[in-house]
Amino acid sequence: MKDPLTLRELDAIGVDRLNGVGRQRRKALADVGVETVFDLLTYYPRRYVDRTAQAPISETEIGSEITVVADVHAVSSRRLRGGRRLVNVEVADATGVLSAVFFNQPWRERQLAEGRTVALFGKVENYRGRKQMTNPVVDVLGGGSAGDRTGRIVAIYPQSENAGIVTWDVANWIGEAQRRCAARGIADPVPEWLRGRLGLAGRAQALADIHEPASMPDQWAARNRLVFDELLRVQLMLRSQRLAREARELGIAHEPSGSLIEAFHRRLPYTLTDAQRRAMADIDADLSTLRPMHRLLQGDVGSGKTLVALHALLAAVQNDHQGALMAPTEVLAEQHYIALRALLDGFEVPDEARLGGRRPLRLRLLSGSSSATQRREVLLEIATGAADIVVGTHALLEESVRFGSLSVVVVDEQHRFGVSQRARLRESGRDDRRIPHLLVMTATPIPRTAAMTVYGDLDVSVLDELPPGRTPIVTQWAQGPLAAEAMWIEVRAEIEAGRQAYVVCPLIAESESLDARSATQMHAELAAGSLAGLRVGLLHGRLPPAEKEATMTRFREGDLDALVATTVIEVGIDVPNATVMVVLSADRFGIAQLHQLRGRVGRGSHASTCYLVSDEDPTPIAVERLSALASTNDGFELAERDLELRGEGTLFDERQSGRSDLKLASLARDLTWVQEARDAAAELIGSDGALDDHPGLADEIDWFASRRDSDYLQRS
Ligand code: ADP
Ligand code: MG
Repeated sequence: MKDPLTLRELDAIGVDRLNGVGRQRRKALADVGVETVFDLLTYYPRRYVDRTAQAPISETEIGSEITVVADVHAVSSRRLRGGRRLVNVEVADATGVLSAVFFNQPWRERQLAEGRTVALFGKVENYRGRKQMTNPVVDVLGGGSAGDRTGRIVAIYPQSENAGIVTWDVANWIGEAQRRCAARGIADPVPEWLRGRLGLAGRAQALADIHEPASMPDQWAARNRLVFDELLRVQLMLRSQRLAREARELGIAHEPSGSLIEAFHRRLPYTLTDAQRRAMADIDADLSTLRPMHRLLQGDVGSGKTLVALHALLAAVQNDHQGALMAPTEVLAEQHYIALRALLDGFEVPDEARLGGRRPLRLRLLSGSSSATQRREVLLEIATGAADIVVGTHALLEESVRFGSLSVVVVDEQHRFGVSQRARLRESGRDDRRIPHLLVMTATPIPRTAAMTVYGDLDVSVLDELPPGRTPIVTQWAQGPLAAEAMWIEVRAEIEAGRQAYVVCPLIAESESLDARSATQMHAELAAGSLAGLRVGLLHGRLPPAEKEATMTRFREGDLDALVATTVIEVGIDVPNATVMVVLSADRFGIAQLHQLRGRVGRGSHASTCYLVSDEDPTPIAVERLSALASTNDGFELAERDLELRGEGTLFDERQSGRSDLKLASLARDLTWVQEARDAAAELIGSDGALDDHPGLADEIDWFASRRDSDYLQRS
């Protein structure tokens, strides 16, 4: 007898091998991502109709909410006065008849064709002596004959009416696939001891019960097992990749202390927070080994990541190497350059040209707006090692930029960087085969669970504490013209008291969006209206770099009272005298983005206010978002809330989120399973990154990784 089927084998059988899947159906299935038997078996139900709890029509009571399952006998539709359409559907079971009426849903006529079996959930009403439901929840269960699916739990699959995929077809194909697999069975590579410890069902059982559960507890057990499988695969992959990388990559060991670093700490204008100290200690430990650092520094806006970054960069210089700091935008690179220049003013390093001599530390900005001559000069200094610390955008990753001896790379706001850039960056120190140490910084509050999955290959340091003396930002939600009027009066008062304000508009001119206010137009309107007589600047992405820089400098130096901007100011900008943030059409932004924007204020000793201005009628979900922002300043709490509101990790780009890997698992809900899977991966994988004792799992990860890559190639 042959061995039980592995997932790799199931993934090698095309769905066209099943009865009833011809060319047309095959294409329709491919459109919903189902090409193989594996895809089909993991095409999970959207929900279930518990027919064990249904009532015969004759026993339903007027006024009660209930599910009935019945066959459609007649469908009709007519136009009502005022143009609305009414669809009337007569259904019947063995005990009686009931009608369902739908207003303004003309497509119901097609969906509820005569002869179909449907489950209707709704309130039973009495209409002219007959039982009726108005706009009930509908599940179409089958093509006919209510008899064949009674008395059990029926899975409802995601359907695609256009492509002609209906839930009972899916159920039938899955049933057929299961029967055809039954002879060999489905292999379970997760060892018995682990399943026992976690109380997990077998894989074959779980794959059967998720589709045709005998009871809801069975369905739940099946779900747990399949969720664990998904998370375990991701964790095993991340862990083995990480161990393999560590075995392969050779970095540069640093002496993490010395006169330069000591001088830096001595001259700091304030005491470091404990969190900053801890992060620096983590980094020191990483830098002192030959294993390249791969660390994520996560800290809410204003938590003081820049100093931690500088500490790492100075370690490179201290050890006669170079450090690079990369920012996602030109504006932000410029900001970093200015901040670092101030912090490093007067610092000296040994002069290689004169034995025993000293020279000023060379900080350089590689900017898109510098002249060709300037650029050549900086590139030369980077190549010879004369430049100690280089600040720039990801243009620092271009082929034309060669470092003499790069040993520490800091990437700010990692969520703006793609994975390929991260890989390219690791290669940038390649000349002598040494990999630079890498620190990525993000203010994107990543919930713990998501961080474990998304950044499974990075170590994490968290700045969970703000520098002392900050006054919490007060957030107000201004809805409607009256509230807006009152808000502008407050904004003017703040400006007259010597503070500055940001006004953020969602989209810039020429955007396709019809009703979003453009920054340019808004700037003109405000300068002539609510902010008349004040010095109002304009900043958006399409201005020439020199103009952007000039505007930022004027704002920073207090020569502008207000800055009307697009989201170019979202990250990193640090002007402590700015205490007012106005976000227009705030209902169009996501939680993470609003939180980032709000982080531009509250950076000095003065109290700050953030106004979220919404359109007249925000959607319910926008209301949830705005209330969340108004209720807390805690980025982590907001991230959890965001995850709940949005489902899976759309905080990240799709490739990073591993979303396609998680069909059933939810990072918000399955927190304990993420942890269990992570622990299990650590137990299963040896210290060399191999899964030698578990060939079944090793093969599964191998298959999974190749499948993932080919998915990615097709998508990009
Ligand atoms: P972010 O983490 O958002 O990048 P920054 O590094 O820009 O934060 O720091 C925000 C502000 O806090 C800056 O003005 C910085 O000078 C100040 N700051 C950083 N660390 C401390 C500290 N330990 N005590 C007081 N102020 C600090
Ligand atoms: Mg920053």
